[in-house]
Amino acid sequence: MNDVRSMDLEELRQVCAALGEKPFRAKQLFEWLHKKGAASYEEMTNLSAAFRRRLEEEYPLGPLEIVQVQTSRLDGTQKYLFRLFDGNVIESVLMRYHHGNSVCISSQVGCRMGCRFCASTIGGLVRPLSAGEMLEQIYRIAAHTGERVSNVVVMGTGEPLDNYDNLLRFIRLLSAPEGMNLSQRNLTVSTCGLVPEMRRLAGEHLQITLALSLHAPNDEKRKALMPIANRYTMDEVLDACRFYFQETGRRLTFEYALVGGENDSQEDADQLAGRIRGLNCHVNLIPVNPIKERNYVRSGKKVVENFKNKLEKYGINVTIRREMGADIDGACGQLRKSYIDKTEKGIS
Ligand code: SAH
Repeated sequence: MNDVRSMDLEELRQVCAALGEKPFRAKQLFEWLHKKGAASYEEMTNLSAAFRRRLEEEYPLGPLEIVQVQTSRLDGTQKYLFRLFDGNVIESVLMRYHHGNSVCISSQVGCRMGCRFCASTIGGLVRPLSAGEMLEQIYRIAAHTGERVSNVVVMGTGEPLDNYDNLLRFIRLLSAPEGMNLSQRNLTVSTCGLVPEMRRLAGEHLQITLALSLHAPNDEKRKALMPIANRYTMDEVLDACRFYFQETGRRLTFEYALVGGENDSQEDADQLAGRIRGLNCHVNLIPVNPIKERNYVRSGKKVVENFKNKLEKYGINVTIRREMGADIDGACGQLRKSYIDKTEKGIS
């Protein structure tokens, strides 16, 4: 591996040793990368010019390059399209809330999970992102805005638990005291429900929030929306959630995209409540963002309200996700997809 941005302090010490530098240089390098978010070795002025040159030659940094930024006039939400060193593009989103800025990052280029309503999965999986590439999305956005990032959600393109080792590296680097030092409590990782990896993650005893994309009240409906439901039953997924809570003490989040006529009836709400009652959880209702490749429609306002009220009657914590950046065209993976569609047609 010659990707220094994905390395921990110990690994950087080995890099320093290999280049004939003192071990304490590793911490300086780490701070430049993760605390100050340096995009080039040139900025690292407390390292010698010779050392920086060697690093440049043997460990090229390949910072993410901003291709496009869209800013919402409604709420200041910004969508970033980044180009990676190999020409692939990914998207990330900055959302401004009263409690601070939240960045939503991608974990893979494309995705192979195949959720029916999701734009990110249409072209399949291209490749996983390295830990450094996940971090860079945050660092570049912080540098571009000059604002502090207080929350990170891994809810952009990709299935984070399908990129387990890199995700774990990313979490540890992001929360390292010598780096950005983001509290794990301010990090949410969202999964479509890869059961063995959820259990493995529980065993790491991290303080992150695990969000499960549930989207349905029973196996039959879940299978219609999410192919992963053919591999793991809802019982298995919910058991893994209970195990996560048991091991970490962290409350689960359930994401539920409301799709008109598919999963939004009062009966669906009853069934859902029956499945998750008693579990320490929070339900996030998201009126689905229609994509042009599919015929799904979002549930009406009243239907969403009724769904929420029903769950609350069972004593379940529910919020309706506030739509951010509605005017810059929302759904996960759409900016990247429209960019690729345009460049393929040669009208970039
Ligand atoms: N693969 C992970 C994380 C990325 S998707 C997961 O499945 O959780 C992040 C969230 O956005 C998921 O809950 C996903 O189901 C949801 N999502 C994807 N496309 C959407 C759309 N068109 N409308 C509403 N939510 C969507």
